[in-house]
Amino acid sequence: MITGKNYIGDTISATGNKTYTTFNPELNKENEVVYTEATQEEINEAVSLASKAFKEYRNVSGKQKAAFLNAIADEILALNDELVKTYCSETGLPEGRAKGERGRTVFQLRSFADLVAEGSWVEATIDTAIPTREPLPKSDIRKINIPLGPVVVFGASNFPLAYSTAGGDTAAALAAGCPVIVKSHPMHAGTGELVASAIIKAAQKTNMPKGVFSNLNSSGIEVGQQLVSHPEVKAVGFTGSIQGGRALLDLAAKREEPIPVFAEMGSINPVVILPKALQNRGETLASTYAGSITLGTGQFCTNPGLILGIKGEQLTNFTNDLASKIVEISPSLMLHPNIVAAYESNKGKALAQSGLVVVGKYENEVQSNYATQIITTVEGATFLENTTLHQEVFGPFSMVVQCENAAQLEEIISQLEGQLTGTVISDENEITQYGSVVSALQNRVGRIIFNGVPTGVEVCPSMVHGGPYPASTDSRFTAVGIGSIKRWVRPFSYQDWPNELLPDELKNENPLQISRSVNGMLTKNGVK
Ligand code: NAP
Repeated sequence: MITGKNYIGDTISATGNKTYTTFNPELNKENEVVYTEATQEEINEAVSLASKAFKEYRNVSGKQKAAFLNAIADEILALNDELVKTYCSETGLPEGRAKGERGRTVFQLRSFADLVAEGSWVEATIDTAIPTREPLPKSDIRKINIPLGPVVVFGASNFPLAYSTAGGDTAAALAAGCPVIVKSHPMHAGTGELVASAIIKAAQKTNMPKGVFSNLNSSGIEVGQQLVSHPEVKAVGFTGSIQGGRALLDLAAKREEPIPVFAEMGSINPVVILPKALQNRGETLASTYAGSITLGTGQFCTNPGLILGIKGEQLTNFTNDLASKIVEISPSLMLHPNIVAAYESNKGKALAQSGLVVVGKYENEVQSNYATQIITTVEGATFLENTTLHQEVFGPFSMVVQCENAAQLEEIISQLEGQLTGTVISDENEITQYGSVVSALQNRVGRIIFNGVPTGVEVCPSMVHGGPYPASTDSRFTAVGIGSIKRWVRPFSYQDWPNELLPDELKNENPLQISRSVNGMLTKNGVK
């Protein structure tokens, strides 16, 4: 049952007087449950509990953490229809999407469970002593990744499950050995509370320390700011807008002890369509891209907001085809009124820029909370001069840039801000003539796609979901896939430490049978 209260560890609490409700975009009315925002005292209590829990949780074995993560997945599935119904009522998204996202969330939790149960992820590295080395003997040095401490997680409104309460950031941080405090997203507070209840049940069933997880309600930015400023918080995970991520990054940097903020933010995901591909299959590409731009009402961080081609009849035909295909698609709901308002305002700002031309837009009247799709076009030189045109318009909006030639195409790509993805559409070996364009694109993005669409992010170990700023605040890490655990750990060395006092991962006999680097060789053998 949803209470509207905060989870401070396993205690339900609502001592504050600031309340709010979520919104049903489909029915265009507020949902009934009233949520109470966490007070400063409740925030302090959650952080203090997390800090205490860390002392124990950091030493919990990989197998026990795996049991906890698998139990969270089981408890989320056990929420059954209540979770799906709440998700739909807070987002306007269909049941199929709720179930798909739940499946992804469960898969992520189980992937991290497998990772930590196996154990090699700690990257144990052993360099044995050389007492006879001249002129000085060499010490025995052993390195392992250890958890940072309590982590605060902010989820985005467009992924209430997979990038939220028990989403990738939380699963990775818990797997690493960090307690988590979630700053609940106000637009899906009910979904968040249900998932929080599943995490708490799982923690109790697997004997995890009290305070290993808390979920705090908030209707504005203050709770998040107080959490990030709290001296006992040691890292932040954020998925959302560039504005929000940047504000938290700056706040964390100004603390007496600055802490890392791993923010995954907006992106316009440039797509380069090479001339022969345009000539041979422009119409098919227009259909495919009309679908990708409007998928989920354009509310994906990988939405293709920018299409780049070389000026000419083929590009004009493609742009017109794209515009006519996109207006055939029925407009769909956006997640909440704030996102509709942001879409309208950002779209308006883009359309007010001189030189941006509307090629096609859905003209019929739509109900409130629905977004109407739009295709625009602009000359390469105009785009280069005006960086306002480079900004994300979160929703079913895309811009075709008509470049003068390959040199201008390359220059435009080089001038773009960092992006999550870049896509190249090429016919046969055409791409080989555009080596420097591809190279420029690689320098701006975290993932490059060949002859596909950027929407759709596979969860697997080789996935990079991140990119140069502002796609993310630290391009060295991914937010998706098991590699994302590295955001929540730091390398730590033991020098000449007695074998019996070392963690199992570094003991001579390798009791956990994990892969380790021993004197430069990857092995599961013990150290003699
Ligand atoms: P958002 O407005 O940035 O909100 C995300 C969370 O951050 C909310 O809990 C919000 O709290 C909080 N927040 C925002 N500004 C803050 C500030 N200045 N100080 C403290 N907290 C702050 O994002 P959204 O509208 O939910 O999500 C859409 C955006 O997310 C799009 O830009 C999309 O591209 C991006 N996104 C990125 C990824 C990725 O992996 N890169 C994935 C999905 C979405 P309040 O709501 O209480 O203000």
